[in-house]
Amino acid sequence: MNDLDKTSELDLIAGDISNCEKCTLCKTRTKTVPGSGDYSAKIMFVGEAPGDKEDKSGLPFCGAAGKFLDKMLESIRLKREDVFIANTVKCRPPENRDPEQTEKIACRPYLERQIALIQPKIIVCLGRHAVASMLPDQPNISKIHGEPIIGANGIIYLPLYHPAAALHNGSLRATLLADFAKIRELIKTK
Ligand code: URA
Ligand code: SF4
Repeated sequence: MNDLDKTSELDLIAGDISNCEKCTLCKTRTKTVPGSGDYSAKIMFVGEAPGDKEDKSGLPFCGAAGKFLDKMLESIRLKREDVFIANTVKCRPPENRDPEQTEKIACRPYLERQIALIQPKIIVCLGRHAVASMLPDQPNISKIHGEPIIGANGIIYLPLYHPAAALHNGSLRATLLADFAKIRELIKTK
């Protein structure tokens, strides 16, 4: 598929998401947050769910966790525009509660379609929700963070702690920064 077709397909997905009523999160959202970045990115990030700022802007990771993510990207000489950033659900859960399993399952096909078009080499799973969604057979994030896992589809999955969880927790923060640096090594192999 050429870049133009790919772009229009990904825009179509974003359009489908903006009209989506497949789970009850549609009732309370302001804007849908389909994901953003390079449509040919080698690296994709999957977070948990949009928060308040994302719900208002329609863009992923634009609050405090997003600023931290930008800094970490910078530390490995990447910019947000070089990667594609999405979430397990495209609409904000009310009061920032955890997304429910039924919501993640309802929303999953959008993420699958995005992955199929973007064809990333590496998917970085941010936090336990993304890890549980993308790597359902793996144990808890505390056991597998920072260890790349090669999926049956050939994609490398890297489970990391969520930047929002690490932001105000010194030891998690140090762990996340060390794990994040592994992305650089993985890029070199791809
Ligand atoms: N946290 C997430 O998991 N995703 C966002 O888009 C913002 C904050
Ligand atoms: Fe649709 Fe996903 Fe939003 Fe639920 S979270 S309404 S499935 S786009």
